[in-house]
Amino acid sequence: MPKRDYYDVLGISKNASTDEVKSAYRRLARQYHPDVNTENPKAAEEKFKELSEAYEVLADPEKRTRYDQLGFGGIQQDFGPGGFTWQNFSHAADLEDLLGQTDFFQQLFRSGFSDGLFGRPVGRRSGIPGRGSDVEVSVRLPLAAAVTGAEPTLEVPSSQRCSECRGTGALHGTAVDKCPECDGRGQIRRSQSRGFSQLISILECPMCHGTGQRIREPCPTCEGAGVVRRIKKVKVTVPPGIENGAVLRLAHMGVPSDGNGAPGDLFVQVLLETSGRIHRDGTDAFTETRIPLATALFGGQIKVDTITDRALLTIPSGTQPETRFRLRAEGFPRLRSPERGDLIVTVHVDLPDALSPRQSELLHEALGASAARDAPAKKGGLFSRRG
Ligand SMILES: [Zn+2]
Ligand SMILES: [Zn+2]
Repeated sequence: MPKRDYYDVLGISKNASTDEVKSAYRRLARQYHPDVNTENPKAAEEKFKELSEAYEVLADPEKRTRYDQLGFGGIQQDFGPGGFTWQNFSHAADLEDLLGQTDFFQQLFRSGFSDGLFGRPVGRRSGIPGRGSDVEVSVRLPLAAAVTGAEPTLEVPSSQRCSECRGTGALHGTAVDKCPECDGRGQIRRSQSRGFSQLISILECPMCHGTGQRIREPCPTCEGAGVVRRIKKVKVTVPPGIENGAVLRLAHMGVPSDGNGAPGDLFVQVLLETSGRIHRDGTDAFTETRIPLATALFGGQIKVDTITDRALLTIPSGTQPETRFRLRAEGFPRLRSPERGDLIVTVHVDLPDALSPRQSELLHEALGASAARDAPAKKGGLFSRRG
Protein backbone atom coordinates (compact mmCIF):
# COMPACT_ATOMS: atom_id res chain seq x y z
CA MET A 1 0.00 0.00 0.00
CA PRO A 2 1.56 3.31 -1.00
CA LYS A 3 2.09 5.73 1.85
CA ARG A 4 -0.48 8.49 2.11
CA ASP A 5 0.39 12.09 2.68
CA TYR A 6 0.30 12.81 6.41
CA TYR A 7 -1.97 15.81 5.98
CA ASP A 8 -4.44 13.66 4.03
CA VAL A 9 -4.28 10.97 6.69
CA LEU A 10 -5.35 13.45 9.35
CA GLY A 11 -7.71 15.26 6.96
CA ILE A 12 -6.18 18.68 7.58
CA SER A 13 -4.70 21.40 5.42
CA LYS A 14 -0.99 22.04 4.99
CA ASN A 15 -1.17 25.15 7.15
CA ALA A 16 -3.13 23.61 10.01
CA SER A 17 -2.04 24.84 13.44
CA THR A 18 -0.57 22.49 16.03
CA ASP A 19 -3.89 22.59 17.87
CA GLU A 20 -5.73 21.57 14.72
CA VAL A 21 -3.29 18.71 14.20
CA LYS A 22 -3.92 17.58 17.74
CA SER A 23 -7.69 17.78 17.64
CA ALA A 24 -7.86 16.01 14.25
CA TYR A 25 -5.75 13.21 15.64
CA ARG A 26 -7.80 12.90 18.82
CA ARG A 27 -11.03 12.80 16.87
CA LEU A 28 -9.78 10.10 14.48
CA ALA A 29 -8.04 8.15 17.21
CA ARG A 30 -11.31 7.91 19.09
CA GLN A 31 -13.02 6.73 15.93
CA TYR A 32 -10.44 4.14 14.92
CA HIS A 33 -8.87 2.83 18.04
CA PRO A 34 -8.94 -0.93 17.88
CA ASP A 35 -10.89 -1.51 21.07
CA VAL A 36 -14.01 0.06 19.63
CA ASN A 37 -13.57 -1.58 16.25
CA THR A 38 -14.09 -5.12 17.40
CA GLU A 39 -15.33 -6.29 14.01
CA ASN A 40 -12.04 -5.78 12.28
CA PRO A 41 -9.43 -4.97 14.91
CA LYS A 42 -6.50 -5.72 12.59
CA ALA A 43 -7.59 -3.13 10.03
CA ALA A 44 -8.39 -0.68 12.81
CA GLU A 45 -4.95 -1.11 14.26
CA GLU A 46 -3.34 -0.45 10.87
CA LYS A 47 -5.44 2.65 10.48
CA PHE A 48 -4.66 3.76 14.00
CA LYS A 49 -0.97 3.25 13.40
CA GLU A 50 -1.13 5.31 10.20
CA LEU A 51 -2.84 8.12 12.11
CA SER A 52 -0.29 7.94 14.88
CA GLU A 53 2.63 8.07 12.45
CA ALA A 54 1.16 11.17 10.81
CA TYR A 55 0.63 12.72 14.21
CA GLU A 56 4.14 11.84 15.37
CA VAL A 57 5.54 13.88 12.47
CA LEU A 58 3.06 16.75 12.21
CA ALA A 59 2.83 17.44 15.95
CA ASP A 60 6.56 18.04 16.11
CA PRO A 61 7.49 21.37 14.45
CA GLU A 62 10.99 20.19 13.61
CA LYS A 63 9.89 16.91 12.02
CA ARG A 64 7.02 18.68 10.30
CA THR A 65 9.38 21.16 8.66
CA ARG A 66 11.55 18.37 7.35
CA TYR A 67 8.52 16.52 6.06
CA ASP A 68 7.21 19.67 4.36
CA GLN A 69 10.52 20.24 2.67
CA LEU A 70 11.62 16.73 1.80
CA GLY A 71 8.56 14.50 2.08
CA PHE A 72 8.90 11.03 3.56
CA GLY A 73 12.66 11.09 2.92
CA GLY A 74 12.98 13.94 5.38
CA ILE A 75 11.73 11.91 8.31
CA GLN A 76 13.10 8.46 7.40
CA GLN A 77 15.93 8.84 9.87
CA ASP A 78 13.46 9.25 12.77
CA PHE A 79 12.10 5.77 12.32
CA GLY A 80 13.81 2.42 11.93
CA PRO A 81 14.61 0.83 8.58
CA GLY A 82 11.16 -0.76 8.50
CA GLY A 83 9.46 2.62 9.01
CA PHE A 84 7.31 3.81 11.86
CA THR A 85 6.66 1.46 14.79
CA TRP A 86 4.95 2.02 18.13
CA GLN A 87 8.37 2.47 19.64
CA ASN A 88 8.65 5.69 17.65
CA PHE A 89 5.40 7.04 19.01
CA SER A 90 6.16 9.67 21.61
CA HIS A 91 2.74 11.24 22.07
CA ALA A 92 0.72 8.54 23.72
CA ALA A 93 0.53 10.66 26.84
CA ASP A 94 -1.65 13.07 24.84
CA LEU A 95 -4.18 10.31 24.50
CA GLU A 96 -3.99 8.70 27.85
CA ASP A 97 -7.26 10.16 29.05
CA LEU A 98 -8.88 8.84 25.90
CA LEU A 99 -7.23 5.47 25.46
CA GLY A 100 -4.94 4.82 28.36
CA GLN A 101 -6.99 2.15 29.97
CA THR A 102 -8.03 0.21 26.91
CA ASP A 103 -7.06 -3.39 26.35
CA PHE A 104 -5.30 -2.47 23.17
CA PHE A 105 -2.91 -0.19 24.97
CA GLN A 106 -2.48 -2.55 27.84
CA GLN A 107 -1.31 -5.10 25.31
CA LEU A 108 1.02 -2.72 23.56
CA PHE A 109 2.30 -1.84 26.92
CA ARG A 110 3.31 -5.37 27.63
CA SER A 111 4.47 -6.53 24.23
CA GLY A 112 6.27 -3.65 22.63
CA PHE A 113 7.31 -0.83 24.89
CA SER A 114 5.49 2.21 23.73
CA ASP A 115 6.80 5.55 24.83
CA GLY A 116 4.44 7.77 26.71
CA LEU A 117 2.34 4.89 27.89
CA PHE A 118 5.06 4.41 30.36
CA GLY A 119 5.12 5.72 33.80
CA ARG A 120 2.42 3.54 35.23
CA PRO A 121 2.69 0.29 37.07
CA VAL A 122 2.02 -2.50 34.63
CA GLY A 123 -1.02 -4.44 35.63
CA ARG A 124 -1.61 -5.34 39.23
CA ARG A 125 1.12 -7.84 39.75
CA SER A 126 4.24 -8.87 37.94
CA GLY A 127 3.02 -12.45 37.81
CA ILE A 128 4.96 -13.74 40.78
CA PRO A 129 2.73 -14.03 43.86
CA GLY A 130 3.50 -11.42 46.47
CA ARG A 131 5.94 -9.58 44.25
CA GLY A 132 5.41 -5.89 43.53
CA SER A 133 4.46 -4.61 40.09
CA ASP A 134 6.94 -3.80 37.38
CA VAL A 135 7.11 -0.22 36.18
CA GLU A 136 8.03 0.94 32.71
CA VAL A 137 9.23 4.46 32.04
CA SER A 138 10.99 6.12 29.15
CA VAL A 139 13.62 8.80 29.06
CA ARG A 140 14.53 11.07 26.18
CA LEU A 141 18.20 11.94 25.86
CA PRO A 142 20.24 13.92 23.34
CA LEU A 143 22.05 11.85 20.74
CA ALA A 144 25.38 12.72 22.39
CA ALA A 145 24.38 10.47 25.29
CA ALA A 146 25.13 7.53 22.98
CA VAL A 147 28.76 8.64 23.13
CA THR A 148 29.13 10.04 26.62
CA GLY A 149 26.58 7.96 28.48
CA ALA A 150 24.26 9.77 30.88
CA GLU A 151 22.91 9.62 34.40
CA PRO A 152 19.43 11.09 34.25
CA THR A 153 17.29 11.23 37.37
CA LEU A 154 13.83 9.92 36.58
CA GLU A 155 10.58 10.44 38.36
CA VAL A 156 9.12 7.00 38.68
CA PRO A 157 5.59 6.33 39.79
CA SER A 158 5.42 4.07 42.74
CA SER A 159 3.05 3.27 45.55
CA GLN A 160 3.30 3.00 49.27
CA ARG A 161 1.15 1.43 51.93
CA CYS A 162 -1.35 4.05 53.06
CA SER A 163 -0.30 5.22 56.50
CA GLU A 164 -3.77 6.59 57.27
CA CYS A 165 -5.49 3.20 57.24
CA ARG A 166 -2.33 1.11 57.60
CA GLY A 167 -3.06 -0.51 54.29
CA THR A 168 -6.50 -1.82 55.15
CA GLY A 169 -8.29 0.66 52.90
CA ALA A 170 -10.98 1.17 55.54
CA LEU A 171 -11.73 4.45 57.27
CA HIS A 172 -10.06 4.38 60.65
CA GLY A 173 -12.03 2.32 63.13
CA THR A 174 -14.65 1.12 60.65
CA ALA A 175 -15.32 -2.50 60.12
CA VAL A 176 -14.17 -4.58 57.23
CA ASP A 177 -16.55 -7.29 56.11
CA LYS A 178 -15.81 -10.50 54.38
CA CYS A 179 -16.29 -10.20 50.63
CA PRO A 180 -19.65 -11.79 49.88
CA GLU A 181 -18.58 -12.98 46.45
CA CYS A 182 -15.69 -15.16 47.63
CA ASP A 183 -16.64 -15.43 51.29
CA GLY A 184 -13.35 -13.83 52.31
CA ARG A 185 -11.12 -16.27 50.43
CA GLY A 186 -10.07 -13.80 47.76
CA GLN A 187 -10.39 -16.52 45.16
CA ILE A 188 -13.23 -18.19 43.41
CA ARG A 189 -13.32 -21.72 42.09
CA ARG A 190 -14.86 -22.41 38.78
CA SER A 191 -15.45 -25.97 37.70
CA GLN A 192 -16.27 -27.18 34.24
CA SER A 193 -17.18 -30.69 33.26
CA ARG A 194 -15.53 -32.11 30.19
CA GLY A 195 -16.70 -35.58 29.51
CA PHE A 196 -15.46 -37.66 32.39
CA SER A 197 -13.07 -35.08 33.70
CA GLN A 198 -13.71 -31.98 35.63
CA LEU A 199 -11.62 -28.89 35.14
CA ILE A 200 -11.30 -26.70 38.18
CA SER A 201 -9.80 -23.29 37.85
CA ILE A 202 -9.10 -20.92 40.68
CA LEU A 203 -9.39 -17.26 39.83
CA GLU A 204 -8.82 -14.05 41.68
CA CYS A 205 -12.14 -12.79 43.01
CA PRO A 206 -13.28 -10.00 40.67
CA MET A 207 -15.21 -8.21 43.39
CA CYS A 208 -12.49 -7.73 45.99
CA HIS A 209 -9.48 -8.24 43.66
CA GLY A 210 -8.14 -10.96 45.87
CA THR A 211 -8.23 -9.17 49.17
CA GLY A 212 -11.22 -11.14 50.50
CA GLN A 213 -12.60 -8.01 52.10
CA ARG A 214 -15.39 -5.59 51.59
CA ILE A 215 -14.84 -2.17 53.00
CA ARG A 216 -17.88 -0.42 54.43
CA GLU A 217 -16.38 3.04 54.60
CA PRO A 218 -13.30 3.50 52.46
CA CYS A 219 -10.30 5.45 53.71
CA PRO A 220 -10.45 8.91 52.10
CA THR A 221 -6.68 9.16 51.71
CA CYS A 222 -6.28 6.11 49.52
CA GLU A 223 -9.91 5.77 48.43
CA GLY A 224 -10.03 2.29 49.85
CA ALA A 225 -7.04 1.00 47.87
CA GLY A 226 -4.81 0.65 50.94
CA VAL A 227 -1.94 2.13 48.94
CA VAL A 228 -1.15 5.68 47.88
CA ARG A 229 0.64 6.64 44.72
CA ARG A 230 3.82 8.59 45.00
CA ILE A 231 6.69 9.59 42.78
CA LYS A 232 10.18 8.49 43.60
CA LYS A 233 13.38 9.76 42.07
CA VAL A 234 15.67 7.17 40.57
CA LYS A 235 19.07 7.86 39.09
CA VAL A 236 19.72 5.71 36.05
CA THR A 237 23.09 4.98 34.52
CA VAL A 238 22.87 4.93 30.74
CA PRO A 239 26.05 3.40 29.30
CA PRO A 240 27.89 4.83 26.29
CA GLY A 241 26.99 2.96 23.11
CA ILE A 242 23.30 2.75 23.97
CA GLU A 243 20.99 2.28 20.99
CA ASN A 244 17.80 4.22 20.47
CA GLY A 245 14.91 2.24 21.95
CA ALA A 246 17.08 0.04 24.16
CA VAL A 247 15.52 -0.99 27.46
CA LEU A 248 17.45 -1.06 30.73
CA ARG A 249 16.21 -3.22 33.57
CA LEU A 250 16.72 -2.07 37.13
CA ALA A 251 15.95 -5.00 39.36
CA HIS A 252 13.77 -4.34 42.40
CA MET A 253 13.29 -0.65 41.56
CA GLY A 254 9.62 -1.05 40.69
CA VAL A 255 6.63 -1.01 42.99
CA PRO A 256 7.26 -2.43 46.49
CA SER A 257 5.38 -5.57 47.35
CA ASP A 258 2.25 -5.06 49.42
CA GLY A 259 3.12 -8.23 51.27
CA ASN A 260 6.52 -9.64 52.09
CA GLY A 261 7.57 -10.27 48.48
CA ALA A 262 10.28 -8.57 46.47
CA PRO A 263 9.62 -5.26 44.76
CA GLY A 264 8.93 -5.31 41.03
CA ASP A 265 11.48 -4.24 38.48
CA LEU A 266 11.89 -0.93 36.73
CA PHE A 267 12.28 -0.94 32.96
CA VAL A 268 13.67 2.21 31.39
CA GLN A 269 13.45 2.67 27.67
CA VAL A 270 16.04 5.07 26.30
CA LEU A 271 14.91 7.26 23.42
CA LEU A 272 17.67 9.18 21.71
CA GLU A 273 16.76 12.41 20.02
CA THR A 274 17.60 12.50 16.35
CA SER A 275 19.73 15.50 15.61
CA GLY A 276 18.81 15.91 11.95
CA ARG A 277 22.43 16.34 10.98
CA ILE A 278 23.98 13.12 12.28
CA HIS A 279 22.72 9.75 11.09
CA ARG A 280 23.65 6.54 12.76
CA ASP A 281 24.43 3.21 11.19
CA GLY A 282 25.74 0.81 13.81
CA THR A 283 28.82 2.47 15.24
CA ASP A 284 29.40 4.75 12.26
CA ALA A 285 27.99 8.26 12.09
CA PHE A 286 27.25 10.12 8.89
CA THR A 287 26.97 13.82 8.26
CA GLU A 288 27.16 16.30 5.40
CA THR A 289 28.68 19.71 5.01
CA ARG A 290 29.06 22.39 2.36
CA ILE A 291 32.30 24.08 1.35
CA PRO A 292 32.87 27.04 -0.96
CA LEU A 293 34.38 26.43 -4.39
CA ALA A 294 37.62 28.14 -3.39
CA THR A 295 38.16 25.66 -0.55
CA ALA A 296 37.52 22.75 -2.92
CA LEU A 297 39.99 24.16 -5.45
CA PHE A 298 42.76 25.35 -3.16
CA GLY A 299 42.21 23.31 0.00
CA GLY A 300 41.73 24.54 3.54
CA GLN A 301 40.41 23.62 6.94
CA ILE A 302 36.76 23.61 7.89
CA LYS A 303 34.87 22.89 11.08
CA VAL A 304 32.34 20.08 11.05
CA ASP A 305 29.80 19.12 13.67
CA THR A 306 30.58 15.86 15.40
CA ILE A 307 28.16 13.98 17.64
CA THR A 308 29.26 15.80 20.75
CA ASP A 309 31.26 18.78 19.54
CA ARG A 310 32.99 20.20 16.45
CA ALA A 311 36.17 19.03 14.78
CA LEU A 312 38.58 20.39 12.20
CA LEU A 313 38.60 18.69 8.83
CA THR A 314 41.39 19.32 6.35
CA ILE A 315 40.17 19.65 2.78
CA PRO A 316 42.94 18.92 0.28
CA SER A 317 43.20 21.05 -2.85
CA GLY A 318 41.28 19.68 -5.82
CA THR A 319 38.54 18.08 -3.70
CA GLN A 320 35.70 16.82 -5.89
CA PRO A 321 32.05 17.43 -4.96
CA GLU A 322 30.48 14.64 -2.84
CA THR A 323 33.85 13.42 -1.59
CA ARG A 324 33.57 11.52 1.67
CA PHE A 325 36.05 12.05 4.45
CA ARG A 326 36.44 9.78 7.42
CA LEU A 327 37.10 11.14 10.90
CA ARG A 328 38.47 8.19 12.82
CA ALA A 329 36.87 7.31 16.15
CA GLU A 330 34.36 10.18 15.97
CA GLY A 331 31.45 7.76 15.55
CA PHE A 332 29.47 5.87 18.16
CA PRO A 333 31.08 3.58 20.72
CA ARG A 334 30.33 -0.09 20.93
CA LEU A 335 28.53 -1.04 24.16
CA ARG A 336 30.99 -1.93 26.92
CA SER A 337 33.97 -1.41 24.66
CA PRO A 338 36.45 1.43 24.21
CA GLU A 339 36.16 1.09 20.42
CA ARG A 340 34.41 3.80 18.47
CA GLY A 341 33.19 3.92 14.91
CA ASP A 342 34.02 6.71 12.48
CA LEU A 343 32.28 9.88 11.40
CA ILE A 344 31.89 10.00 7.64
CA VAL A 345 31.50 13.49 6.24
CA THR A 346 30.15 14.01 2.73
CA VAL A 347 31.33 17.31 1.31
CA HIS A 348 29.13 19.26 -1.08
CA VAL A 349 30.76 22.05 -3.06
CA ASP A 350 28.93 25.36 -3.33
CA LEU A 351 29.37 26.95 -6.71
CA PRO A 352 28.99 30.72 -6.92
CA ASP A 353 25.67 31.89 -8.38
CA ALA A 354 27.26 34.52 -10.54
CA LEU A 355 30.73 35.76 -11.35
CA SER A 356 31.91 39.31 -11.73
CA PRO A 357 33.19 40.16 -15.25
CA ARG A 358 36.72 40.16 -13.86
CA GLN A 359 36.29 36.70 -12.28
CA SER A 360 34.84 35.37 -15.54
CA GLU A 361 37.73 36.76 -17.48
CA LEU A 362 40.31 35.24 -15.17
CA LEU A 363 38.61 31.85 -15.15
CA HIS A 364 38.30 31.82 -18.94
CA GLU A 365 41.92 32.50 -19.15
CA ALA A 366 42.84 29.87 -16.59
CA LEU A 367 40.57 27.11 -17.85
CA GLY A 368 41.32 27.66 -21.52
CA ALA A 369 39.59 28.66 -24.71
CA SER A 370 37.34 25.61 -24.95
CA ALA A 371 35.59 26.46 -21.72
CA ALA A 372 35.10 30.02 -22.93
CA ARG A 373 33.60 28.82 -26.19
CA ASP A 374 31.31 26.19 -24.61
CA ALA A 375 29.94 28.36 -21.89
CA PRO A 376 30.01 32.05 -22.66
CA ALA A 377 29.85 34.16 -19.54
CA LYS A 378 26.38 35.61 -19.59
CA LYS A 379 23.81 35.78 -16.86
CA GLY A 380 24.50 32.58 -14.96
CA GLY A 381 28.19 32.87 -15.55
CA LEU A 382 30.34 29.84 -16.10
CA PHE A 383 28.15 27.60 -14.05
CA SER A 384 24.78 28.14 -15.67
CA ARG A 385 23.09 24.91 -16.64
CA ARG A 386 22.95 24.24 -20.34
CA GLY A 387 19.91 23.01 -22.28
ZN1 LIG B 1 -5.92 4.50 53.36
ZN1 LIG C 1 -14.00 -11.47 47.06
